[in-house]
Amino acid sequence: MQDDIEKVLIAAPDIHRRIGEMAEEISRDVSDFSEGLTIVPILTGAMIFTADLMRKIPLKMKINLMTVSSYPGSALRTQGSTLVAKQLGDVQGRHVLLVDDILDSGGTLKLVVPVLQELGAASVKICVLLRKDRDTAREVHADYVGFDIPDEFVIGYGLDYDNVYRNLPEICTLKASVHSPSD
Ligand code: 5GP
Ligand code: MG
Repeated sequence: MQDDIEKVLIAAPDIHRRIGEMAEEISRDVSDFSEGLTIVPILTGAMIFTADLMRKIPLKMKINLMTVSSYPGSALRTQGSTLVAKQLGDVQGRHVLLVDDILDSGGTLKLVVPVLQELGAASVKICVLLRKDRDTAREVHADYVGFDIPDEFVIGYGLDYDNVYRNLPEICTLKASVHSPSD
């Protein structure tokens, strides 16, 4: 797996330090919600980020799930976002923190935020670990952004290429030979 990495963009200690800062900011902002928070990771990519983030927020919270597909198989650009599953329980009247791994075209957030609003969420805040340096990404409102990164395809820390590399502990780019084999 290590042989397929082109370069490390964000090392693991930097990810964890930044998540600590984000968790402190979120905890301060939501501490008034007496009923606590509902955290909704967008699977599969946000799984690892959410697991680390939520353990640093010392408040009562429920967890519900949404699964969105936008980069099926070996796609390197979004193929349009599709909601493939949701397990949202009763979000009526709940303050929701929606968590995604990366904000790119914005299609995923444009798809899922209205779903939560239609189910009667009291508020929806958006938290992403990464945001790409693209107009489409900056045009979508995000309440918490971990890192702004160049407009490159990244893997690791939950992000995949063809459903592989999610377990890399850092954010990396992939060697061109892996995604465009010459043979
Ligand atoms: P958007 O809908 O904003 O275009 O992209 C959001 C989703 O696309 C993310 O949740 C993620 O699943 C996927 N995505 C966007 N950029 C990348 C990338 O550079 N690498 C990987 N592995 N997935 C990405
Ligand atoms: Mg995703």
